[in-house]
Amino acid sequence: MYEERMSLSAPEKSNHLSNNEDTDQHIYHAIVDAIMNRQIGPGTRLVEAPLCEAFGVTRGVLRRVFVKLAHDRVIEIQPNRGAVVPEHDFQETEAIFEARSMLEIGTVKKLARKYKQLDLSELKALIDKEEKVRSAGNLKEWIKLSGDFHICLCEANHNPIVTGYLQTLIARTSLLIGMYETKPNHCSVEEHHAILEAIEQGDEQKAIKLMEAHLGEYARSFLDEQPDTKSPNLIDIFQNKKLQK
Ligand SMILES: [Zn+2]
Repeated sequence: MYEERMSLSAPEKSNHLSNNEDTDQHIYHAIVDAIMNRQIGPGTRLVEAPLCEAFGVTRGVLRRVFVKLAHDRVIEIQPNRGAVVPEHDFQETEAIFEARSMLEIGTVKKLARKYKQLDLSELKALIDKEEKVRSAGNLKEWIKLSGDFHICLCEANHNPIVTGYLQTLIARTSLLIGMYETKPNHCSVEEHHAILEAIEQGDEQKAIKLMEAHLGEYARSFLDEQPDTKSPNLIDIFQNKKLQK
């Protein structure tokens, strides 16, 4: 049930697609995956000709997907350069995490205040799953689950407007992690445990402090990372993503 929470969800399995929307989704996820898997890094130009050839689509289709990717800030459309994987600078990373802190600290504060009315079993199950996936070394799934934990926590407060904003911010955080983070140990399962425990005990100040430290630590982990910026061969990367009509 978590699959639908993030816009950066799992890729399509089949290359046989029935309509425009499926085609767009297929290309959208293939590009997001390539960024997350660091096959294409920040600063890379998404040149149209090789991508059209690799996916077997027209420029019109590709540009339609670019508009969606740009809307979700996965790529940027730059004058004279076209579609580019953006460089996420220090200030933008800080701004994303500041916005997250504002939403998430407010959330844990409210949850701790009404801890007696909460059913936290879903969140506990999610942490267990995080633990298993992390131990198995499945980085991509683990990034997704750690994002899901934060969203699920927010949902427990039943404010869909706050949850909506957080979903957008977490989708962007996930992309940053995929691009920049080399050691996948910052959104720690242990810290998630501790935050949940503080809420369960109704300890508002502790929950606030733990969430603040958790997000602060997490934000700092991005600042020293220097991702590679290369000119990858787009045809090679997407060669098995060609659409079969
Ligand atoms: Zn976390």
